[in-house]
Amino acid sequence: MTNRQLFQHLLAPTSPSALMLEIDRGEGIYLYDPNGNKYIDAISGIAVSALGHCHPNIVEAINKQSKKFMHAMVYGEFVLSPQTQLAKFICSLLPSNLQSVYFTNSGAEATETAMKLAKRVTGKSNFIAFKNAYHGSTQGALSLMGNEYFKSAFRPLLPGVKHIEYNNLKDLSLIDDNTAAVFFEPIQAETGVVIPDINYVIALRQKCNETNTLLVFDEIQTGCGRTGFWFAFEKYGIVPDILLLAKGLGAGLPLGAVISSKENLWTFTENPVLGHITTFGGNPVCCAASLAMFETIDQESLISTILKKEALFSKLLKHPKINAFNHAGLLMAIHFETAEFNQKVIQRCIEKGLITDWFLFAPNALRIAPPLIINDKEIILICDIILESINEIDSFV
Ligand code: PLP
Repeated sequence: MTNRQLFQHLLAPTSPSALMLEIDRGEGIYLYDPNGNKYIDAISGIAVSALGHCHPNIVEAINKQSKKFMHAMVYGEFVLSPQTQLAKFICSLLPSNLQSVYFTNSGAEATETAMKLAKRVTGKSNFIAFKNAYHGSTQGALSLMGNEYFKSAFRPLLPGVKHIEYNNLKDLSLIDDNTAAVFFEPIQAETGVVIPDINYVIALRQKCNETNTLLVFDEIQTGCGRTGFWFAFEKYGIVPDILLLAKGLGAGLPLGAVISSKENLWTFTENPVLGHITTFGGNPVCCAASLAMFETIDQESLISTILKKEALFSKLLKHPKINAFNHAGLLMAIHFETAEFNQKVIQRCIEKGLITDWFLFAPNALRIAPPLIINDKEIILICDIILESINEIDSFV
């Protein structure tokens, strides 16, 4: 059987119509199929491969660490230098109340950990999340998800979760003294890149202070440089109580993190002891890859290039069929009139060697989240392919 046949027979699908693109290898911003056909990976699968595929610094760090040791008990007993060195680098970028790191395997696991942490620290159990929020697919994270279509088949979920309107000042009144935490995306990605007003974010911080509510920033998609800042919260001039990272954090390997104060995270050590544990979270090879990524972004001053790259996309992506172009650094969404039109454009782009995608709660929007290393020539090529595809689909409709 071919790999495509094995995929159809043996692998559990998540949609009735898989893309069926077979990936053989990757290099820079490109993915290749077994026949050597080349595709631009304009979504970094998804918002993960910040330095593209097989960046030599990442490969070297993985090789080096995997020759030393790949696994030892990871959670807070043994001193593992890939973890300590990575935590040191990340904490050097963060303010004084975010100086303690708990590593996880994934974004959803970071969300789950933060939900438990908020309950443990505040002694409260109610949560506020947002309409159209996405924090992961596990049951706690799903309880926070702000979209009934994706949740209803899996009820009952956690009680005590209220969903408020994103960027709506009036709704902040629903945060009260019984709220343990507010889970907030500083840019709401899966709605097609929605950016809140700075005054709203400041008011949210204020309301959390007044009600002794922990403010959790889910930067699983926006963190690690993607929006032109190391972390998107910097843009608003406020600081969350808990910061969640994953996706880009692992440089292509599975890694997440929950970052908070030492005072908060140390509550997992007693009553009960081992309040939260993991077999693999903070795996040494993943941490070594992550550190190499942070160091490379830093040494190459990549963050300072992101806003210029965003501006070039913004300048080029003009077309009467584009209803809106939402963007925060290299997290971008082209909004079309319908999901059907979008699907056709995505398909045509793939035929032309460009991988894009849609958004979970905005099926009419086309996702662009390329590796941060992308250069101007490649941006121009991506925009040409998208505009060409729009024209071709438009002429058929
Ligand atoms: N939070 C946000 C904002 C995300 O975008 C995602 C994944 O898309 C998650 C959480 C869940 O991360 P993971 O897929 O690693 O569980």
